[in-house]
Amino acid sequence: MQQKALISEQLMFDNKPVVVNEWKQGSELVKHELEYVPIWVKLSSLELKFWGQTALKKISGLIGEYVRCDEATQQKTLLDFARVLVKVKPDQTYLDGIEFLDEKGKVQKIKAEYDWLPIHCTSCKGMGHLAVNCRKPTSKPNPAKPKGAKQVWRPVVRPQAPARAPATA
Ligand SMILES: [Zn+2]
Repeated sequence: MQQKALISEQLMFDNKPVVVNEWKQGSELVKHELEYVPIWVKLSSLELKFWGQTALKKISGLIGEYVRCDEATQQKTLLDFARVLVKVKPDQTYLDGIEFLDEKGKVQKIKAEYDWLPIHCTSCKGMGHLAVNCRKPTSKPNPAKPKGAKQVWRPVVRPQAPARAPATA
């Protein structure tokens, strides 16, 4: 059974998510594909009336699944931008702006900026680098072999060679 990667919002290193695997004696650490990645999004040009949890959840919901906002956003101590943590899929598109109509029918234009984007390698499915920079040549996809296929050793059976004709002089 495949174990799901544990991704916690607390497990961030340099604002990048860290995948945690359980260490067990005699077992190998398995590299997991990330399904959802938590990333920080800065929302600027956001009127203060939209800094509540409900509004932030709705607005950031257009990018990904809202997790929480940071301390400064909650306390409204730094008003340059609201900063929210959202869960995204690595291969999704990332909006750099959000527009919506407020309760008065006025268009609100919000700018979205990302601390870090979860780019992923199409070759080895690893995070943080692109296929052109991939250093894992063994993991390159082999179109002849379906993903997950196991290599099985079989004895090679050759058809019986015909009896050799006597050599001519
Ligand atoms: Zn790679």
